Amino acid sequence: MQTFEPEAIDWPDTAGALRDRVRGVLADHGPLDPVLRANSWTKPDPEFSRRLGEADLLGMTWPREYGGHEASQLERYVVIEELLAAGAPVGAHWIADRQSGPLILRYGDEAMKRRWVPAIARGEAFACIGLSEPSSGSDLASVRTSARREGEGWVLNGQKVWTTGAHVAHFMIALVRTEPGSERQRGLSQFLVPMDTPGISVKPIIDLTGAHEFNEVFFENVGLSPDALLGTEGDGWAQATAELSLERSGPERYLSSMVLLLELIRVAGDDAGPSVRELAGRLAAEAWTLRLMSASVAAKLARGEDASLEATIVKDLGNSYEQAIPELVHRTVAMDLDGPDVLSMVTAYLLQVSPSFSLRGGTREIIRGIIARGLGLR
Ligand SMILES: Cc1cc2nc3c(=O)[nH]c(=O)nc-3n(C[C@H](O)[C@H](O)[C@H](O)COP(=O)(O)OP(=O)(O)OC[C@H]3O[C@@H](n4cnc5c(N)ncnc54)[C@H](O)[C@@H]3O)c2cc1C
Repeated sequence: MQTFEPEAIDWPDTAGALRDRVRGVLADHGPLDPVLRANSWTKPDPEFSRRLGEADLLGMTWPREYGGHEASQLERYVVIEELLAAGAPVGAHWIADRQSGPLILRYGDEAMKRRWVPAIARGEAFACIGLSEPSSGSDLASVRTSARREGEGWVLNGQKVWTTGAHVAHFMIALVRTEPGSERQRGLSQFLVPMDTPGISVKPIIDLTGAHEFNEVFFENVGLSPDALLGTEGDGWAQATAELSLERSGPERYLSSMVLLLELIRVAGDDAGPSVRELAGRLAAEAWTLRLMSASVAAKLARGEDASLEATIVKDLGNSYEQAIPELVHRTVAMDLDGPDVLSMVTAYLLQVSPSFSLRGGTREIIRGIIARGLGLR
């Protein structure tokens, strides 16, 4: 059986300067909304993303030739950890910086790379993920949205759902069926679909808190040029699976409730009773362990090794951790959830949104099945 032993992380010498640079951008941006700091990687603020681009904090590991900064994976890790711990509104560029940019660099042709990658690194081009459909969630291989050849190009028809940020995105990376009559993983391809193409309509889905984060996206005879195909026709499944590894490995998978822990510690101050001390200590210790595990994944990726199993384990443990925090704080600290103080407001907000933490990016049941297979138990 395989084991996962987090390694001692050799943090880069530049870590301190990078953290200072992030704090400088945050200071220029001004005060953050105390509630929206929680789960901040789903909160879009295009102007903030542009400022990060100006400060060379996007596309950090990408080649300079395409607007990147040739930093290491651990340097990028330091930056995104700092942003998430502060609760910065990074939602606009998050998907493009995390997975779409790397995917285009890996599979895109030269024109696609030049058109999109530098714009992502400047914080001016945002992406959304077009995987889920009304009857294709966990069972992603049942995707039915199709692209058929017409003349030189393609015509796209179908529907995606739960598409985070489709209303602010400039393009979608969509997984669609290109081989008529094909089944399951065969006959799928990925396309880069500019969101302003005629025939696309984006309809908001409003969540429990009243927020508009995700959408339904409809494609009606959407004409795509031949160069919209990303990578190789028919290889969509393998490409999308590689994308999921990038999607599951980052610190956002355990830091979504971190501002609540920090607020708990701040409010408790030096006078905290034993139950609050015990909770703060336990949550801090778990955060430290998860950080080590998550950074180990970044270190492994930096060496060019396959870290998909470890990334999946971190996602499962991290989601359980970030999902448990609001419930534990609510149980331990006497509070009125309708109260105006920051601790109550953030707890109330996270109690509403945290059930989604173990759904997005693959549900807990599916993730555990993947882990069992990876460990040779299934
Ligand atoms: C906040 C949020 C943001 C999202 N953003 C995006 C996005 O940007 N792009 C995108 O494409 N998708 C997005 N999704 C969709 C997400 O990927 C799907 O919700 C998820 O994959 C589950 O699919 P489903 O909702 O169709 O549920 P289903 O697949 O219908 O699952 C329902 C339940 O059945 C369980 N289940 C299903 N199959 C099995 C099985 N074989 N064994 C055991 N249990 C099983 C699941 O674990 C789940 O609990 C987002 C979802 C959320 C909550």
